Amino acid sequence: MTSIASNLQAVIARIAAAAQACGRRPDDIRLLAVSKTWPAECVAEAADAGQRAFGENYVPEGADKAEALLGRGLEWHFIGPLQSNKTRLVANAFDWVHSIDRLKIAERLSAQRDPARPPLNVCLQVNVSGEASKSGVAPDAVPALAEAVAGLPGLRLRGLMAIPEPTDDAALLRRRFAGLREQRDALNAAGLALDTLSMGMSHDLEAAIAEGATIVRVGTAIFGARH
Ligand SMILES: *Cc1c(COP(=O)(O)O)cnc(C)c1O
Repeated sequence: MTSIASNLQAVIARIAAAAQACGRRPDDIRLLAVSKTWPAECVAEAADAGQRAFGENYVPEGADKAEALLGRGLEWHFIGPLQSNKTRLVANAFDWVHSIDRLKIAERLSAQRDPARPPLNVCLQVNVSGEASKSGVAPDAVPALAEAVAGLPGLRLRGLMAIPEPTDDAALLRRRFAGLREQRDALNAAGLALDTLSMGMSHDLEAAIAEGATIVRVGTAIFGARH
């Protein structure tokens, strides 16, 4: 077995253990393998081991890999910061975008998505840590943005995404993840039908799963340390 295949198995086992520890079904948590900076050969190796969904942060790099591996039935998720001059490529090279943080970007993606294809799945990225430097929409601006995005024909609003500030404070992390879940629940109570909480990475996926993550985005634990 290759190291990517065995790392993948270990991550899948961590997800299952974390789900069981909080009484959730492992099948309700999807693994997004974050392949940014790794060549298409590494993605192919993970795909050979059964992994279907891949996350990328950089537009041309991600689109090139999707193109190179076309026909393998993979699903591509854009998870990085998105500038408006890059939306056209993202709108059609990817199946999901997790990092919507303003309406203008969402409107462009909606208008540029090929109408012959299913709507692009999107999540709003929420700035749960309140740091000025972090991307993501401020929590109090989420309801209005969610309403507006939900009305765009080329998009399907699936849920919320967050990247908490780096911290060793386990209780703080849990509060950040719980806050995102509460925000998703509030939007659903207001009439939206959001099924996705994209939260948790290599070092904190257990805490995210305990708070309701439905997609964990894992890079380092699968592919190794990025250079
Ligand atoms: C790089 C990245 C990840 C993966 O992080 P790891 O710590 O390598 O698992 C997850 N989400 C986003 C948005 C990223 O940019």
